[in-house]
Amino acid sequence: MQKKKSIIAIDGHSSCGKSTVAKDLAKELGFVYIDTGAMYRAVTFFAMENGLIKEGRIDEAALAERLNEINISFKFQPEQKKNETFLNGKSVESEIRGLEVSSHVSAVSAIGFVRKKLVELQQSMGKTGGIVMDGRDIGTVVFPEADLKLFMTAQPEIRAQRRFDELRAKGEEVNFEAILQNVKQRDHLDSTRAESPLVKAQDALVLDNSYLNKEEQLEWIINVLKQRHLL
Ligand code: C5P
Repeated sequence: MQKKKSIIAIDGHSSCGKSTVAKDLAKELGFVYIDTGAMYRAVTFFAMENGLIKEGRIDEAALAERLNEINISFKFQPEQKKNETFLNGKSVESEIRGLEVSSHVSAVSAIGFVRKKLVELQQSMGKTGGIVMDGRDIGTVVFPEADLKLFMTAQPEIRAQRRFDELRAKGEEVNFEAILQNVKQRDHLDSTRAESPLVKAQDALVLDNSYLNKEEQLEWIINVLKQRHLL
């Protein structure tokens, strides 16, 4: 019988480059990359679009009632060489990356019924293996039996600067202090929520990439995979 392909779980703080590393790693291994943050962002965007978030408050009862109307999928776009996130058949890739969605997403992702729906979807997307999945609870809740678990972090100021540069490059008007506050606030909300808080899984390896470039991070992970005979 053929050995099941590995599941690689990458968790960690906001804006520390998890998705960049996860994408590069998936490409290197010929695995599928699954961005679970995009799924929480898509639910948040749905709530915003449908008037379920007013003055920062989420109408949880209404969101629960409409949860079945939310369909999330990914499509690989060969021209851009990346996955695009679809909400009910429409691409929402650029909408879900803005600061407005970012400022509500931690509150939406703290809701138990939202997590239940998305965790089930993530488990079904990854069950055949051959995946790199990134998020906050992948190694602790979604795939506690993952073959390799990484916990990524970097200094908040460095993470905010990277996000600032990224948004600026897209032509968005951004303010460094607002981004730094958002990064810190999301860390705080994600780590202190009652439902699946962001914690390092006991058996996860910490990768602090404050002073590492993309290539160095990839090399570090590939070495670990080799040492563990996963490659
Ligand atoms: O990874 P990204 O920063 O795009 O995730 C957006 C937000 O979604 C996080 O700040 C966190 O609140 C939430 N999230 C989560 N669990 C995951 C992935 C993301 O709670 N597995």
